[in-house]
Amino acid sequence: MNMSASILEIRNLTVSFDGFKAVNRLSTSVKKGDIHFFIGPNGAGKTTLLDAICGRVKPTEGNIIFKSNKDVTKMSEHEIVELGIGRKFQVPSVFMGITIYENMELAAAKKRSLYSILFTKLTKEQNERIQEVLQTIGLYEKRYRTPAALSHGEKQWLEIGMLLVQQPEIMLLDEPVAGMGRKETDKTGQLLKEISEECSVVVVEHDMEFVREYADKVTVLHEGTLLDEGDMDRVQKNPKVIEVYLGRGGEGYASCG
Ligand code: ADP
Ligand code: MG
Repeated sequence: MNMSASILEIRNLTVSFDGFKAVNRLSTSVKKGDIHFFIGPNGAGKTTLLDAICGRVKPTEGNIIFKSNKDVTKMSEHEIVELGIGRKFQVPSVFMGITIYENMELAAAKKRSLYSILFTKLTKEQNERIQEVLQTIGLYEKRYRTPAALSHGEKQWLEIGMLLVQQPEIMLLDEPVAGMGRKETDKTGQLLKEISEECSVVVVEHDMEFVREYADKVTVLHEGTLLDEGDMDRVQKNPKVIEVYLGRGGEGYASCG
């Protein structure tokens, strides 16, 4: 394994909630440029892992190392975003009352309120970046509409675009294709492929067809621990993985968060 090619190292990570270990002594690493999936049954600790990486929850043990020398374990959420780690949450975070372009401006300015955008002048480079990202996510033509006019899939792409415009080096996505049909799911996969050329992508997902099609690497979690990892061909043949996850009612199963 080429250690220098890893963008994120998770070392012996434990996250406890009142003594309950949602993530339990987990070690793994994300390679630069990979689309790396985390799968496993509900309650396996996938969302908690993403929360720990982006600083929303603090680990009780272990470390999260970004780009081989930056320990983000004790940094604030804000500092972690500044470093280049972007996170898309399961709940939408777009403003419905302003245009798609204005939502992108807010994201580019890293401002969280509508009020503050009034006092923010974006640079020429930032505006060019917005246009470029709007093309990538397929919403350039609709940029002067409000997000209310978008389909479920398009809203997800807008949120991914709002991360992209901040030029992260790694992007964390929690169930990005939940609620999408096959066509939108495939478009999302193509989008992630394109993104992974400049930004590593970590995805939590239940849609096994999607995982099989787009994963460079898959890590299977169960009760906070690592059950197996490798390429999809490998993990889907592992009897333990089949028993705790894949075997239950076919492949994966519907998620409720
Ligand atoms: P997944 O995303 O894999 O479905 P989660 O990371 O959301 O799993 O949850 C892992 C376990 O930790 C679950 O048992 C869940 O109930 C528990 N958990 C998650 N967040 C909290 C919290 N804030 N307080 C207490 N328990 C939590
Ligand atoms: Mg979850």
